[in-house]
Amino acid sequence: MLFKQFQDLQLSSLGFGTMRLPLQSDGSIDQAELDRMVDSAVVSGINYFDTAHPYHGGKSEVAIGKSLARYPREQWYLADKFPGHQNVKGVKELLPEQVFEEQLQRCGVEYFDFYLLHNVNENSMQYYCNPEKHCLDYFLKQKELGRIRHLGFSCHAGPAALQRFVDQFVKDLEFCQIQLNYVDWGLQDAKQKCDILKKAGLPVWVMEPARGGKLAHFDGVTEEKMRSLRPGESIASWAFRWLQTVPKPMMVLSGMSNLEQMEDNIRTFSSEKPLNPEELAVLEGIAGTLSGTIPCTACRYCCAGCPVGLDIPMLMNLANEMDVGGTVINTLMRYSSLGDGKRADACIGCGQCRKACPQMIDVPAQMTRLADMVAKQKSWEEICRERAAAAEAEAAQKG
Ligand code: SF4
Ligand code: SF4
Repeated sequence: MLFKQFQDLQLSSLGFGTMRLPLQSDGSIDQAELDRMVDSAVVSGINYFDTAHPYHGGKSEVAIGKSLARYPREQWYLADKFPGHQNVKGVKELLPEQVFEEQLQRCGVEYFDFYLLHNVNENSMQYYCNPEKHCLDYFLKQKELGRIRHLGFSCHAGPAALQRFVDQFVKDLEFCQIQLNYVDWGLQDAKQKCDILKKAGLPVWVMEPARGGKLAHFDGVTEEKMRSLRPGESIASWAFRWLQTVPKPMMVLSGMSNLEQMEDNIRTFSSEKPLNPEELAVLEGIAGTLSGTIPCTACRYCCAGCPVGLDIPMLMNLANEMDVGGTVINTLMRYSSLGDGKRADACIGCGQCRKACPQMIDVPAQMTRLADMVAKQKSWEEICRERAAAAEAEAAQKG
């Protein structure tokens, strides 16, 4: 296993993310398979395990805590997160002091090695940055008490919002987890986000390195080419090799769902085998085809003349994200944060942008398409409310 030095800790470069744990036929977590995966992880040197309040409706925390409890506490590092992004209107507010105590209990631990403000984005910043909520103050206090060893945040915000958050809180936070892979390098501006974090001195933790498994399977021709260039290496391993070659983050979290994936990733992280220029070109080609169909370069030539002041490149980027798919709720959150009169449905179809665009993008048509795509989705608040109601119903059933 490869290791990286984080302050006084030797962290395994590969961490076990527990958002997609193995399931039994009735949908419950397969604890026996999880235990086998954790055994394999521990034997190979993986020492970082990441969970969160909403994963598997709260059961991920219980399951990973139970599995890790079979090993001495000093042998593993556990990360958990505060779900401030779920504090939406119409749902009982999640209070840091209540959630934190519940999480310690669920995981069966007395402290968390790593703790994160979960999903900082353009919307949730309204909660996280509200001094009246005392959210960060509470967790800084827990750190003082030794109940949190290292405090950080995970982020789905765009670069501008990330920069604002970092400017305000860099002195209190030690690391940042972002969605980073060779598709989101451009699609989600992950390169720019890495630059911001590097400048702020915040080490990068990676989530979704294989975009939820999307980068583990391709068409026959592409896979054949990849196998001929790297015989014996899995398709999924290319996503990790790219991380080892280009952004070189501190930690890569992989949400593994079975022992086979765990063993494949362990093999990959037993050594660094950076990609050569020919191999990088293969991934650039894949990223090009997976980055949505709108070739917006964010040059902003169209913006000054827009009579309603739309952030056109951001809207084109969100349309691409909707096309690519994945965790749509994050895209919907960012879309909603643009505010009334600034979303795609505010476009009056004047056509100014189409004339200004060097890529000849039919922006008005894309605006209509984006507005339609969003209208067909539930709002992100509704998704949060449904999740909260389901969790409450389950808790009530248990008595
Ligand atoms: S067509 Fe829509 S997006 Fe383009 S300039 Fe006019 S109002 Fe703005
Ligand atoms: S002019 Fe075209 S390429 Fe440039 S930001 Fe606008 S839509 Fe994107």
